[in-house]
Order: sequence, then structure tokens, then C-alpha cells
Amino acid sequence: MRSMDGKRFMPRIFSPKNPHYHPCFIRENRTERRNPCTHTVHGARTMARHNEVTLYGQVSSEPLLLRESSQDPNSRICRVLSSFTVIRGIRDFGAKDQRMRLDEVVVMSGNEKIMDFMKEWHLGDIVSLRGTLITNDYNKSCTCAECGHTQLYKGYSAYVYPIYVRLVAQGYTPEQGLAELRRNAEISNRITVIGKACSKPAFHRHEKSGTPISSYIIDIERKYRVKEDLDSNRHDFPAIKSYGGIAENDYLAIEEGGLVFVDGQLQVRNYTRTFICENCGAEIQKLDNVTEIVPYSTEYLTGCHSMADVMALREQIKEQQEFQATQEMFAGGGYGADGESGEDS
Ligand SMILES: [Zn+2]
Repeated sequence: MRSMDGKRFMPRIFSPKNPHYHPCFIRENRTERRNPCTHTVHGARTMARHNEVTLYGQVSSEPLLLRESSQDPNSRICRVLSSFTVIRGIRDFGAKDQRMRLDEVVVMSGNEKIMDFMKEWHLGDIVSLRGTLITNDYNKSCTCAECGHTQLYKGYSAYVYPIYVRLVAQGYTPEQGLAELRRNAEISNRITVIGKACSKPAFHRHEKSGTPISSYIIDIERKYRVKEDLDSNRHDFPAIKSYGGIAENDYLAIEEGGLVFVDGQLQVRNYTRTFICENCGAEIQKLDNVTEIVPYSTEYLTGCHSMADVMALREQIKEQQEFQATQEMFAGGGYGADGESGEDS
């Protein structure tokens, strides 16, 4: 499918919650969002490829059948899209209790056999699947509440492309589903990937809890050809978000182009974005979501600092902090100097 100016057009639906949103998205130059990712190697050196997702979830939306022509209800079904509720423990990310978290993951396929299975799914069914995580850049749109102007912004979507699916049980209520997911929490939401970091991780601390957080994007070379995607898409670029000690290690170990192995879980986060209307200058609030991989362990392969380096760096930082704390204690008027407490009031 090519338009007059040679750019490719791909019809896509990305949100099962928004079945009416069905425009043709203009394919973006993939490198734009990921700049400065210059480490994609084609041909000459191949990197280790790995991208595997295991989900055990409850179907949370009736499967959506996407047809070749949105105008013709009898045209061939080219993709089936559904969403899954999956569960994960958050014990490893700083929480002291055994809290569980639910995430809603999008699953989509264009494979005939898999589509035949997916068409039969219904709300409440329990499904086990294995697949691969696919990402796509595309233009999202937001509309100004003041003047009605609609504008586009760059976004990306992520979905799981199943390679194997199995229907485990049918017609569970949300309560029964939750109990079933809790019993199978270990296999409900699992992803392992190998990819190259597109940049050094960005590091910050959570505003309230102070938990360290690192985020970066990795470039994963595709193992499988995704039939309904462009041939030129040989790479996926998911976001990695790490917390706590892993976040500190990631920040110290990972350099641009470094190869990492991530063993983690999928996190789907909703958040509100703010844009400025191009037409009238008013603020536009838009609810958006992002799919990220939350590691519970990361191995630093080639092009990263070793764990020995990281440990040495952490030791240095600790000594520095202790030294500073000591300095502040003495400077803080411990010897009867009044008023100057070292803290600004
Ligand atoms: Zn406006």
C-alpha cells in the first residue's frame, strides 16, 4: 500500500478500548523517536536475538476482528485483537508486602491459525499464551476542548504477538478470574529479551518514596517475521523501566549500545499528557498509556560496565556520601553555633 508521495500507509487499531479509532496512520521514520540510536547493525554483525513473552491471563475485551477494508464488512479478516488481564507480584520492587498488580496487555495476531483460536475467545475466558513483544511508532491524535482542533503527536504502541495459545477455561467472572490468576502468578506475566540500549538510562527518584528509577529503550532484532507488519520492520524498541537496586545498577552499568539481557514483567501504565493547541494555544489534556518492561533481573552483556565495576562505583558513591554527611554534620553547628543548622529554613 503506497500513497502518491511514496510513503507507506498502514491501517491500524491500537486500543481495544477505542474501537472507533480507526484511521490510517502515517508511518514515521523509525529513527526519529529513538534518536540517538545509531547502534542498529544490519547484516555485518548480527546480535543475539531473544524476545519471549509468557502470559496467563483473563480475556478482558471481546476479540476485535479487523478487516482488510473498514467499509466492507465481508472483506477478509486480517487481524484479531484482544486484551488480557494479567497479574504480577511487586515484592521485588521495594514493596515490603506481597502486593499484586493487574496489567491489561494488548494481544494481536494476523496468523490464520492463531486468529481462528482468538476469534473464539470471550470475555472472562482464561488463556495461556507464549509470544513476542512487538512495538510500532505511530501518530496519535488529541483534540482541543476549546476550539475542536485535532492535532497529531508521535507515540508508540506495544502488543504481544502470540506464537502459541491455549484456552484453559471459559466464562470466569472477574472474581474467579482474579483467584485463578493469583494461583498462577508465577507464569501470568513474564518477558525475557535481549537488546541494545539506545542510550544511557535516564535516572531519577520517585517524588514521594525516593525509590530510584531508571528508564531506557532497547533495540531488539526480530527473530520472526511478523506477516502483517512491514518487511522493513526488523526491530522492536520497547521501553525498560527499572526500580530500586536494579535501577541504580542499570544507571551505572549501561552505556549507549550496550547489550543487555532482561528478565522481567510487562507494565501498562496510564497517564495524562499535556499538549498546547496549535490553533488557539489552550492546554489539551490527553489520557495516554505506555507499555514498559520492568526487570527483576538484568544481565549486562557486551558494551556495558561489569558488575565488578558497578560494585566499585557504588562503593565510591557510598564513601563520598558518608564523607559529605560527616562534613555537613560538622558544618551544621554541632559545636554550639546557633542558627546555622545547615538546612535552609
Ligand atoms: Zn484549540
